[in-house]
Amino acid sequence: MLAVDQAATIVENLVQPLSAANPSHTDVVALIHAYDRILAAPIVSPVDFPHWDNSAMDGYAVQFADVHGCTTEQPVTLTVVEEIPAGQSPRYVLQSGQAARILTGAMMPVGADTVVMQEQTRRNGATVTILAAPPAPGTFVRRRGDFCRAGDRLLPAGVILRAPDLAMLAAAQCSQVTVYRKPRVAILSTGSELAPLGQSLQPGQIVDSNQVALAALVTQSGGIPINLGIVPDSPDALKEAIARALTQADLIVSSGGVSVGDYDYVEQILLELGATLHVQAVAIKPGKPLTVASFASVDETVAPSRLIYFGLPGNPVSALVTFWRFVQPALRKLSGLAQGWQPQFVAATTLEPLRSDGKRETYLWGRTDIADGGYQFHLAGGSHNSGNLINLAQVSALAILPIGQREVAAGDRVRIMLV
Ligand code: AMP
Ligand code: MG
Repeated sequence: MLAVDQAATIVENLVQPLSAANPSHTDVVALIHAYDRILAAPIVSPVDFPHWDNSAMDGYAVQFADVHGCTTEQPVTLTVVEEIPAGQSPRYVLQSGQAARILTGAMMPVGADTVVMQEQTRRNGATVTILAAPPAPGTFVRRRGDFCRAGDRLLPAGVILRAPDLAMLAAAQCSQVTVYRKPRVAILSTGSELAPLGQSLQPGQIVDSNQVALAALVTQSGGIPINLGIVPDSPDALKEAIARALTQADLIVSSGGVSVGDYDYVEQILLELGATLHVQAVAIKPGKPLTVASFASVDETVAPSRLIYFGLPGNPVSALVTFWRFVQPALRKLSGLAQGWQPQFVAATTLEPLRSDGKRETYLWGRTDIADGGYQFHLAGGSHNSGNLINLAQVSALAILPIGQREVAAGDRVRIMLV
């Protein structure tokens, strides 16, 4: 049985990210619709930032030599030749002995090299008296190209576009951007006991809750869920369903049917369909029967050349824990994210004692918050049985007890994974 880290490394190395060189792997989207998308090509600035020398203050544009050394006792009086609000071009070339009234963001007039903030001036009609000298030429002037020059790289490929990025790209007049298309993830639920949400349950039936949860996780991880529904525990039905998923998706996730029970057919069918099995069991609790396989792509012009299949265990908690630990990083890497696709682990203080049998790496679910500058972990109350999805509600972290560790006392540190 593989250790969790070994299995995670195998999965990570299987992933072939979408490629910017393949036109079917990218979308061109309007900037207004690019929030949360992953940039597929670097963006170079077409312009200097700032676009022209401009004032950082409301005040007066002057020649530094005119005001150098002046004080309240020895002020300098200059003639005000014009007023330059933001959005207007200066009309005059500033001469020695002159000042231009200037507002924040407005273009500096040619001839001026410094701005004196208005708090250090006294206006008297057509003249202004400067009461304090600025420390150096260039004070309160934002010079053209100070922030970035035309041709400089604004963003590398592989980053997620968030609000500040969109602001910058808008300012650089990028009205559309090339992003990776979202990976399509087929979701299959195996089990003859499952009924779709909304259908009344016959004795022995349960709702296919994994379908709903996994679709949400796929969306949250930046993918497009393709809900393929329920497949009964029949080898033929399963074979047909997986074969169909292979033609539609970049990644396939099924739940159930990977244990050693009489009706667990997933591995057998994967082999019959020509898959290579990479992971058949992991020393993780919950989630031990996790199965990972790969297929050569059906259509390489559209999908990545290698298609990964995750057979998650059916128990609702096992399905979610293995999704968070193995599928989410793979999906985020597949989606073109250059960095930060790995799970986030942090140290936390547990408020309750944590226990494990020490035999497998154990994931206990709960909530985390930040208190006194550090993470705290609150263990979910109730049973930590992998079939108990009731106390899974509102979970935001998993506490991890490595193999061999049987207990963490309340108040002690524990490694948690943010989910
Ligand atoms: P399995 O991995 O197929 O042996 O299923 C383990 C347990 O998870 C069984 O109790 C199943 O009824 C339950 N289960 C399997 N698939 C789902 C699903 N899609 N939604 C909710 N529970 C499920
Ligand atoms: Mg089953």
